[in-house]
Amino acid sequence: MSAINPVPAMNAFNNPGQCQACKSMRQTTPVTFHRNIGMLFARQTKILQGNLCKTCIRKHYWEFMGKNLMLGPWGTISLFVTPIYMVTNTVSYVRALRNLQGAIE
Ligand SMILES: [Zn+2]
Repeated sequence: MSAINPVPAMNAFNNPGQCQACKSMRQTTPVTFHRNIGMLFARQTKILQGNLCKTCIRKHYWEFMGKNLMLGPWGTISLFVTPIYMVTNTVSYVRALRNLQGAIE
């Protein structure tokens, strides 16, 4: 027998919500991005968490990726933490885009 298709995410088509970044009514999905700022002996973490639309997810992913690369790895702990953030951000990004497959931008 044929395999059962997985049920698409609830908000993929049924539930347009408000994007928490651009405030427009669109199909959204929860996403979390982390960013590290290394300052030799200190570090600062920024977290972006919310229901975002496809456009904002893409925009913030690349913004976080760029800042992680430029400002991230400057410190002992930061050197290890930043690549982990970049991997988890990418996982989160891919999952979010899959949830929003077919969503109108
Ligand atoms: Zn948005």
